[in-house]
Amino acid sequence: MRYAETGYNLEVDLTRGNIERVETDPRDTELYLGGLGTNAKIIWDRVPPEVEPFSPDNLLIFAAGLLCGTPATGCNRTIVTTISPQTELMAFSMMGGFWAPELKYAGYDKVILRGKSPDLVYLYIHNDKVELRDATHLRGKGSIETAELIRRELKEPKAQVAAIGMAGENRVFFASIEQGRSSASRGGIGAVMGDKNLKAVVVRGTKDVSIAKPMEFMELCNEVLEYIKFRNEHPIPGVMPILAGLGSPQEMKVHDEKWHTENFSWGNSRTRRKDFWNEDVAREWTETLDTMRTRLISCYNCPMTCGATISPPGMPTYMMKCFSKLTYTMAAMSDLEFGLGIAQSATEYGVDGFSAPQVMAFALELLEDGILTDEDFPGMPEDNEGRFYWLLDHIVRREGIGDVLANGTYWAAKQIGKGAEAYAHNNIKKHEQLPLKLSMLNPIYFLMYATGEKINITQIEGQFPQAPFPKREHREAFVKDWFQVPDEKFKQYFLDWEPRGDNSIPYYPTPPMACDIVDWQERMHYIDDALGMCAGLSSFPLKPPYHLHNYPKFISAGAGIDMDTEKLTQAAKRYRTLVRANNTRRGMSRKDEKPPKDHWKKRFPELEKELLDTYYAFKGWNEDGIPTETTLRGFGLDYVADDFLARGILKKDADTPPKDDAPEKDKEV
Ligand code: SF4
Repeated sequence: MRYAETGYNLEVDLTRGNIERVETDPRDTELYLGGLGTNAKIIWDRVPPEVEPFSPDNLLIFAAGLLCGTPATGCNRTIVTTISPQTELMAFSMMGGFWAPELKYAGYDKVILRGKSPDLVYLYIHNDKVELRDATHLRGKGSIETAELIRRELKEPKAQVAAIGMAGENRVFFASIEQGRSSASRGGIGAVMGDKNLKAVVVRGTKDVSIAKPMEFMELCNEVLEYIKFRNEHPIPGVMPILAGLGSPQEMKVHDEKWHTENFSWGNSRTRRKDFWNEDVAREWTETLDTMRTRLISCYNCPMTCGATISPPGMPTYMMKCFSKLTYTMAAMSDLEFGLGIAQSATEYGVDGFSAPQVMAFALELLEDGILTDEDFPGMPEDNEGRFYWLLDHIVRREGIGDVLANGTYWAAKQIGKGAEAYAHNNIKKHEQLPLKLSMLNPIYFLMYATGEKINITQIEGQFPQAPFPKREHREAFVKDWFQVPDEKFKQYFLDWEPRGDNSIPYYPTPPMACDIVDWQERMHYIDDALGMCAGLSSFPLKPPYHLHNYPKFISAGAGIDMDTEKLTQAAKRYRTLVRANNTRRGMSRKDEKPPKDHWKKRFPELEKELLDTYYAFKGWNEDGIPTETTLRGFGLDYVADDFLARGILKKDADTPPKDDAPEKDKEV
């Protein structure tokens, strides 16, 4: 008997049209949990580094997290994994909404797609009935429109549809997969779906998911719900509005955008507008949001309502996804009305709301500085907002200059040449980074940015406050009920963190402290991504309802796996290392772990080197950021160690044993 998971994956060969229901190995669940963890193992086993993103041998995996489909509040994430055309690394993009629980109710944990269909198709899963259906009539249709048309065609109004728009069909490197209230956007996974000639994956399920210890599990769920209520009634004082509560990240409820508009950069991620937010802007933006926001909505089984339906004048209603609220507005140096309008088109086309605006602003800066000329933009309107709509349209169709821009700023700059590389200044690991520009380097965020392999906002932030509170008494009040910490030492780190003086950034938290904090934050993200939990209730906000102390209980009672904090930590570290191993095998190393040069105004090369050196040693990676043989074997990843030795990525006995936190070989699993 399998609990929480179904124990079955769907294997779909799009080239041959073959569909199989395959039983999975429960030992893999113990070792890698599920979701991202088992996805990483499948990519390791079946997608060697020679396989290119647009090869039929590249896999596209839709995985429901281990606890999706159980009553665990907010546990609804689908983890989509493939090799990204943008970064050429393993992408693992998450979407909320309703799709993952529906897949579980249909009787599957993952859908694993390989090959390429000769014609455009969609996959329809209805419990045991699974078929590939013609989608040629949906070519060029928007993602929301596609979902509606498919539901009508199937007469299945409750089907959950994950679809690509025109961007995915045309293999735009930052194409997303859109699904109701959410999308999987980072890494260009929509382009891989388009390359496979797969327009949508549609699922309807009516089966049950078994829980190992239902009474215990429900008690845990009730505790979480009660704590969510408590946190909603007790926002954290002294932090920006978006950090005061829970959610992911509640942008659609927030009117006060002072922090984002004054700290994130505008245009091509260069200009900070320090005094942008004033009473007039606040009033105008509040009116815009209140007029266009028609309803606040939640993902499956969550009370948080942090998304919203938006109805821009003259356009169909769509569901806004958190920070896309501001990305188009800021890239175009425009207002909220423009941002909410163009995001409708962008959602239909299916593009990543972080990359797409930056690519367009990059193109216009190149035009302004004469690297591109008017001839590259024939017919482009004169007005600023019109230009963004024109560019978006050309990019998703890959028309003219849009064909170059569709490859993202890193690759487009290389193609354009003539110094364009200097304008693609906001990338890390070949991918557009958040347009966040700050003054002083923060050691925690330096490490999160540099060594992160997902490259999105929720993956970079975490449960430790982003900045010290001004007074010690505020910090003392904060730590009083901070039971989520893995260890009491984190409270001391925070208590001693001062806004100025010896214990302030960039030298405090010290490199060893920063390692501890980053390790905790990262561990939580990886656990969420395996369980299918929304980061907005766990790894992203301060004082969340899910944490290292109750997660093992959820897994034990839900999945029936005997779990404690140590075992959970080992599992998370194991598949975190496996994600890195997948990317190491694809050439990622220390040279790639560089946050954009202008991410912080003040940089400290020696400190940054020390931070990376210390963190690599802490993680059991060598000075190039590659997990050592000792580390790999310690996690039971002998097959990775052997592969690295055979490929010459590691040399036999060349390990420097990690200084700290040496993983113990987990003999129980
Ligand atoms: S917290 Fe917000 S984003 Fe997360 S599951 Fe709930 S509604 Fe969805």
